[in-house]
Amino acid sequence: MVNQSNSDLKVGLLNADTVAPVVPTANADVRYSALGLRGSRIEAGLWAERRRTNHNVTIPHGAAELHEMGTVFNFELAAGRPGQYRAEVDDSGTPAPFLDSDVYKWLEAVGWELSQTPDRSLADLAEPMIDLIAKAQRPDGYVDTFYQVTRPGREFTDLQWGHELYVAGHLVQAAVAWKRGLGDERLLRVAQRFSDRIGAELGPGRRELICGHPEFEMAMVELYRTTGEARYLELARTLIDRRGRGLLGKCRHGSRYWQDHEPVRSAAEPAGHAVRQMYLDCGVVDVAVETGDRELLDSAIRRWDSMVSNRMYLTGGLGAHHRDEAFGDAYELPPDRAYAETCAAIGSVMLSWRLLLATGDERYADLIERTAFNAVLPGLSFDGSHFFYSNPLLRRTSVTEIVEGNATTRRSPWPPIACCPPNLMRFLATFPDLVATTDADGVQLHQFVSGSLEAQVRGGTVRLSTTTNYPWDGTVEIEIGQAITEPWTLSMRVPAWCSRAIASVGEAAEKIEGGPGRIEITRRWRVGERIVLTMDMPARVTLPDSRIDAVRGTMALERGPIVYAVEDEDLTGGDSVESMEVDPATKFEVASALDTRLGDLPSITFEADFRADVFDKSMPYRDSSEAATEIPTTGPKKVTALPYLACGNRAGLGMRVWIPTRTRAR
Ligand SMILES: [Zn+2]
Repeated sequence: MVNQSNSDLKVGLLNADTVAPVVPTANADVRYSALGLRGSRIEAGLWAERRRTNHNVTIPHGAAELHEMGTVFNFELAAGRPGQYRAEVDDSGTPAPFLDSDVYKWLEAVGWELSQTPDRSLADLAEPMIDLIAKAQRPDGYVDTFYQVTRPGREFTDLQWGHELYVAGHLVQAAVAWKRGLGDERLLRVAQRFSDRIGAELGPGRRELICGHPEFEMAMVELYRTTGEARYLELARTLIDRRGRGLLGKCRHGSRYWQDHEPVRSAAEPAGHAVRQMYLDCGVVDVAVETGDRELLDSAIRRWDSMVSNRMYLTGGLGAHHRDEAFGDAYELPPDRAYAETCAAIGSVMLSWRLLLATGDERYADLIERTAFNAVLPGLSFDGSHFFYSNPLLRRTSVTEIVEGNATTRRSPWPPIACCPPNLMRFLATFPDLVATTDADGVQLHQFVSGSLEAQVRGGTVRLSTTTNYPWDGTVEIEIGQAITEPWTLSMRVPAWCSRAIASVGEAAEKIEGGPGRIEITRRWRVGERIVLTMDMPARVTLPDSRIDAVRGTMALERGPIVYAVEDEDLTGGDSVESMEVDPATKFEVASALDTRLGDLPSITFEADFRADVFDKSMPYRDSSEAATEIPTTGPKKVTALPYLACGNRAGLGMRVWIPTRTRAR
């Protein structure tokens, strides 16, 4: 038996003032500190607009759906009300065991949101839910409606599929939001009691079990960071080190599905269910930085590098398989069957943020940018009340069936498995936290928004404001709002897509140039001093690695951080994106948006050809001697591409990111 006291863990000084989901202790081995939601505000632009919609439409819509679907009602059942458990059932008739987590993620979103924008009506939706959860909790601390109502007495008997720790992790994250954001400890008391119940069951020296769906690990580190109780950190470390030893056994997708195929410290590649891998590695980084465990941190970095190099879509989307919602083999990235679950993209951002704090490497901020714009935002409709679960890079014009939700056609108001919608809500509620960081030497600007920042540096408090029309324009103006007498360093990320950026400083307009990485300027900044960062943003043609067979011989369009796509809606004469071809040497021009239904979005216009249908025989194949003859096309037609994040907001279905190339005779 291992002693449950934590002799080798030094409790770090808590950073109690930072309002953010990830707040390492002063003891943690991290490069940067978060400014949190009080230190970073977004005031205008795309993110401000999306966040306003989240507050006013998406979050209230979520509350209505959670009631409508019975997800809140299930807590009433657990609290003693008679009735039938309400949940989506799988093919075997088993109800989904993880729906409590949707309530918790929604509550987490509301907690962060209220900490920035007080709103009585949102609080009135949330507070009865918190009271109800407390009422549903058993005297022994256990709270999980699926087990309490449908499987009483069978707690902790199905760690593979039961999701108990996963659900508990989301409860803890919601509780942390209400504690940090609002000083409200009601949910924290519930979360601590359940965490202690779990610790007593399978903590260090207890039953050797792990949960099939990671999530609880990072939540335990955050609970440690909130309460200063080292037992939660020890529990997280124990669960991570148990993983990869086959404790879960094999499921029909193999043990890779739940990352139990190889110990975390030695696993070199991301594997299995993409959300699980992302959430697991979030916990891995959290434990690593709090315990100074370099080996553990390096393992997460190694998997991140591998993921980016050969298992990630251009959009930042993750997961090539629908069947097991999983990573495929290296370079297995089909555009039409892309899973690219919205939750996996959110998990990727959560992981990259932790790695950015830990290492200070701007590559992580680059991936946050790519993923946030192109794999997270597309999950939500412009009206704020419809959601994609999977985010493919090719949607065919003709589909045999329009299945809502867990499919590739249209957004759903609330998918039967509704993990993604409340995940989007908490993501948008906390996005300002990702904009900048601080250390003793200064402030690091990672994402470009219109807003304001306040940071503590060695010599005191500095404030600055930023103004930009990013991501549609590459100019960012920064103005110093409060200065200190000592010099400090302003660091600005230069994105990987930008080969050359120029910072123009002060009235003398002193020019400082930089390439991908960052521009750093150290000086005694004065109040009112201005820096203008300029990044050229032409449309650019992106080619895939030829090992990604599914998109060989195609090209994509990008501009700044934004991936573009063509939709049937913007083609004329009945043309379809399925027959489209483009010469990569053609001229790509940036224009203003063509469709007022989508707002003022820069589009990219160019000439494309559309193949005539020549495969009208019995099979969609033909003899090579025939193929030698030129396939007729319609001739060049003007085509418009729009940001991928705007796709799927109109009636048409056809959409493609990767466009087949063809060299046109000149
Ligand atoms: Zn999801």
